[in-house]
Amino acid sequence: MKPPLCTTCGSDVAVYHRPYSGEKLCKSCFIESIEERVRKAICRYDMFEPDDRIAVAVSGGKDSLTLLRILHKIEQRFPKSELIAVSVDEGLGEYRTEALERASRLCRKLGVEHVVRSFKQVFGYTVEEAAELDEELGPCTYCGVFRRRVLNVVARELGADKLVTGHNLDDVAQTILMNLLRGNLLEFMRFGLDEAPHPKLVRRVKPLMLVPEREVAFYAYLTGIGFQRRTCPYFTLGFRNEVRNTLNRLEVMHPGIKFSILRDFERLRDALGERLKPSLRECKKCGEPTTGEVCQVCRLLERLEARA
Ligand code: SF4
Ligand code: ZN
Ligand code: ZN
Repeated sequence: MKPPLCTTCGSDVAVYHRPYSGEKLCKSCFIESIEERVRKAICRYDMFEPDDRIAVAVSGGKDSLTLLRILHKIEQRFPKSELIAVSVDEGLGEYRTEALERASRLCRKLGVEHVVRSFKQVFGYTVEEAAELDEELGPCTYCGVFRRRVLNVVARELGADKLVTGHNLDDVAQTILMNLLRGNLLEFMRFGLDEAPHPKLVRRVKPLMLVPEREVAFYAYLTGIGFQRRTCPYFTLGFRNEVRNTLNRLEVMHPGIKFSILRDFERLRDALGERLKPSLRECKKCGEPTTGEVCQVCRLLERLEARA
């Protein structure tokens, strides 16, 4: 049996089948389709201005390095814009060292400035030290809250107009579903918005949010991006993983379901509009934006100080 031809160009052999659209794509049409999807997300969500200074969060994994490569390509057409890669060193031993090397290798290749900031420099603790002091909360709570803070502070210091993260469609659909299942959807809508509801928050955007994870991985493979493959030593098979597996099973039976979750979430959010705008104030200890009197970072640091 002859291998199927690409449904876009009709001349080359197809290497990828997209069940949700019925497309069968050759290598170059597949690569072009992913880059086009990123351009579409940028336009649809009005992510950038032509003269933006853009901080890109790069972890060294497939998503962030794929995104950096595509944004670098797009940016060539906008000479007034500027990309700066930002990595966070959480203090995760060999795992993070390898990822940072991969990130800096791609930055050197593309000629993109690369800024690295560690938890130890900013907070005085690595994730490993925090996890040792506070077994009850464990590493991931510290890691997530501290990383978000470091990225925002560094982006702000760099004078960035936008902070870009490599979240793909699967990440976004999983997060929506997790919040729905936990009864948190409204709160998530309020704070998961990409707009920056406070002058100290750099607006976050996710240009890969219309690209399924499987397609990001295939793009990285086809283009030879050297990304880190192993997972964090603290990675556990928690709730997100259950939601990920469920969503992947549903996607096989109902192709396009991840896009539907995103679309419905956005419809609901748009319908609620102004009513969702959060009111933020400044933390009385560190001055960073927060909903309460003291921000989560300061509360976590207090826990560590009490245990040190
Ligand atoms: Fe951080 Fe590792 Fe936990 Fe991910 S799994 S949040 S990288 S400690
Ligand atoms: Zn083709
Ligand atoms: Zn604070």
